Order: sequence, then C-alpha cells, then structure tokens
Amino acid sequence: MTTLKIVNLHVSVEGKEILKGLNLTVRTGEFHAIMGPNGTGKSTLSQTIMGHPAYEVTSGHIYMDDQDLAELSVDARARAGLFLAMQYPSEIQGVTNAEFMRAAINARRPEDDPINVMDFINKLDEKREFLSMSEEMAERYLNEGFSGGEKKRNEVLQMMMIEPKIAILDEIDSGLDIDALKVVSRGVNEMRSDDFGTLMITHYQRLLTYIVPDFVHVMMDGRIVKTGGAELAQKLESEGYAGLRNELGIDA
Ligand code: ADP
Ligand code: MG
Ligand code: MG
Repeated sequence: MTTLKIVNLHVSVEGKEILKGLNLTVRTGEFHAIMGPNGTGKSTLSQTIMGHPAYEVTSGHIYMDDQDLAELSVDARARAGLFLAMQYPSEIQGVTNAEFMRAAINARRPEDDPINVMDFINKLDEKREFLSMSEEMAERYLNEGFSGGEKKRNEVLQMMMIEPKIAILDEIDSGLDIDALKVVSRGVNEMRSDDFGTLMITHYQRLLTYIVPDFVHVMMDGRIVKTGGAELAQKLESEGYAGLRNELGIDA
C-alpha cells in the first residue's frame, strides 16, 4: 500500500497564503473527491503536491509513505508514482503524445529495462480504444489543437498508460458533454484496484454519480472543513456551500 499524507499544509502564492493548514490522507485502493467553491485553493493543492515552483510550502509536509516530498523534484515525484491531470493541460510542441507517454512509463522503470515497443503499442491501442480515441491522436503533438474535451480524455489516457499509484485529477469533468463524461468516468473506474488511489477535484456532483468516491471532502478557504461519504456530495448539491457554511458556522 502507498499512502499520500498531507499534514498541516500551508502554501503561499506570490506572498499570499492560500492553503491554511490542510490535512488529508489518500491511500492506494481509495477514491477521494474534493469539492469546494472557486478560488478556495483546490488547484493550488494539486500543483503543490506535484511540486510546481510557484507554490511555496511555508509549513507542513506532504509525505508519500516515509518520503517527504519536499526533498523530491517534480520528476522524482512522478517516478514515485504520483500523477496530476491538470485543470488546464499545457500544450507541448515537438513532443508527440505517444512519445510523452513512453518516456513517462520508462522513467518509472529501471534504465536498462525500457518497455518493449510492441508492448507499448499494444497497450496504447487497447487503452485508446477503451476511451474511444482516434489512432491519430497519439501521433499529434501533446495537447496541441486538442479541444477541451480531447485534453481531458487524453489526461485519462496518459493515466491509464502510466499507471500511477496516486492520481490527482483536477476538474477532469470540466467542459465535457455527457458522452465524454461517461468515457472519462469509465477510464477512471477501470483503474480501481488495490494499487491505485485517486483524489478527484470537482465542482459538480454529476461526476460523482459516475465515479462513486469512498470519501468526499469539502474544502473552503484553504482547509478541509468537512469529510463524509458519497452522500455528502448529494447534500452539497441540494444545499449548496452556503448551507454548509451555516451548518459549520463559517462566515461567508
Ligand atoms: P480553485 O482551484 O479552488 O478554484 P486556485 O487554487 O486555482 O483555486 O486559486 C486559489 C487562489 O490562489 C486564487 O485567489 C488564485 O487567484 C490564487 N492563485 C492560484 N494560483 C496562482 C498563481 N499561479 N499565481 C497567482 N495566484 C494564484
Ligand atoms: Mg477554479
Ligand atoms: Mg482549480
């Protein structure tokens, strides 16, 4: 089992404190969801976990098992089995989608044991078909000219190819029509195993009817303010964040 453990995390961006003492533990085998209003720091959390340099950890720790992530580069975090599907995936010119995935897979393997090329191609064909993606998308430059929905689908393809231990999916549902949402959800559900855990960040309860989480966390003002099961997402949908603020006595 692998455990991502976030302890009393404080993070500042450009000198402004965004995360204010966040605690969260995600283990392989578990599906977690974070919901929260816009601007509350959800993407800040995901970028900080991956080690984006703009996000300064001013106190607290993020551990993967016994390893403090503060000591690991972005690449080393990926090698350790972390994966981030960004809210706004970036376009990378000159690197094809397939090349990117092969490099990412090999980065997690011993240097003298890269994935066999035929094995890679077969796996890519299988996952691509599972996600109803065209063959041609693998040969395009990474995210270049991809529509919003294609980018999200492609993040899930990358996840299925790279097989991380813990995947952080930042608004994997944003901008998707219902068919694309079903495909993306199918991909995430297919990952369910004792060796995989995920932290899904979403605004909408809708995603969580397709991917049923084991835990739902509500984040407000840089902290987790409430944790429950899948039913918490439904409660939020009907009562809104205002209802929860009232219940918890948090000022708006
Ligand atoms: P959420 O994902 O919950 O909508 P974000 O983490 O994107 O929230 O943003 C939280 C706050 O941090 C916002 O006030 C946002 O403007 C600020 N912020 C996040 N990232 C950056 C950045 N790279 N540069 C400047 N401000 C940022
Ligand atoms: Mg946002
Ligand atoms: Mg965000």
